[in-house]
Amino acid sequence: MPLPHPLNLSPATRAAQALHILDHRTGAIIPPIDLASTFARDDNYQPRQSYIYGRDGGPTVKHAEAVLASLDGGADTMLFSSGMAALVSLCETLDTGDHIVAPQVMYHGGMNWIHRLCEKRGILATFFDQTDPGALTSAVQKGKTRIIWTESPTNPNWDVIDIAAAAGIAHDAGAILVADCTASPPCTMQALSLGADMVFHSATKYLNGHSDITGGVLTTREINPLWDELQVIRTLQGNVMAGFEAWLLIRGLRTLYLRFERASSNALAIAQHFEGHPMITHVLYPGLPSHPGHEIAKRQMTAGFGGMLSILIKGGADQAHDIARFTQVFFPATSLGGVESLIEHRKAVEGPHSIVPDNLIRLSIGIEDVRDLIADLEQALECAQ
Ligand code: PLP
Repeated sequence: MPLPHPLNLSPATRAAQALHILDHRTGAIIPPIDLASTFARDDNYQPRQSYIYGRDGGPTVKHAEAVLASLDGGADTMLFSSGMAALVSLCETLDTGDHIVAPQVMYHGGMNWIHRLCEKRGILATFFDQTDPGALTSAVQKGKTRIIWTESPTNPNWDVIDIAAAAGIAHDAGAILVADCTASPPCTMQALSLGADMVFHSATKYLNGHSDITGGVLTTREINPLWDELQVIRTLQGNVMAGFEAWLLIRGLRTLYLRFERASSNALAIAQHFEGHPMITHVLYPGLPSHPGHEIAKRQMTAGFGGMLSILIKGGADQAHDIARFTQVFFPATSLGGVESLIEHRKAVEGPHSIVPDNLIRLSIGIEDVRDLIADLEQALECAQ
């Protein structure tokens, strides 16, 4: 029965219901899961509803993509088997001699991949300081730079970049701006409407939120030849997300808004509590007025600053290890954006060549009772003293 007045639903409602249309045959109120890797053709030997083979993405993958395109406000979304798979596929669109610009501090796996491209494929790269407003302008090469990659807030010191200003610089140079929004999912930041051309997420993190899949997302503002090429690359590289993971992602997305709100309020309370603590020299969190990127973050992240923060402790690697070792509620594990809180000594994860300070501890704040998280950190700091 057609509805008399179809409602213009808010993103939180679209996420909670995962754009599910009630199945009137069964009454199922949650989206189905479809695991087929191949699809039978019709009597005219034509694909039904465009599905041919699993490596192109099956119905559950397409469903999750539709939800994300809707939340990111883009024309289309592609899901990948991990965040890195999405980055690798995007970089595959670069030709020898092309130039890519990326932050000096960014997710270390992405940076390692860009260095490898430069060595093996003759791609040129410039790394810029996201905290210096003039650095991006100096880094781009008009007509030669193809991709500007930004990450905001950036891992692991949570620097913030002005996406709208970066988009202006990218477009003047004839490049596209890709925004890694892993730490600022669409419930708080709409990078496409700020001017980015593509949004990237590691879906392993907030979007899924339960630490039980790896996944990557690219959402485009418009369908164009670059996007078409990327579709072909994903299929030929076999980088697509599998159906079961896509279904888990849909399930995670349904609580994204709630989880992010709670993680953000927990993180803010922790940042405020530990700023000025005698064993801590700095708390790096964009939600604190003392953070250099606070004013930009306030403008761009409209529904919370997220659950990621780092603390610089008094002491070095040994003290930092001790703190991570002594926590009872925080798990000493890498990754971020899950419902459970994690603590890690970031330098140990990134390796000896990393520029991350020895005394930096990265915290991914989950949705637990914040009093337990504060008490846990207090006792770990005390034990490490
Ligand atoms: N971008 C950021 C900001 C990340 O934190 C990560 C992973 O930690 C990635 C990209 C890579 O994503 P994945 O681990 O899903 O490959």
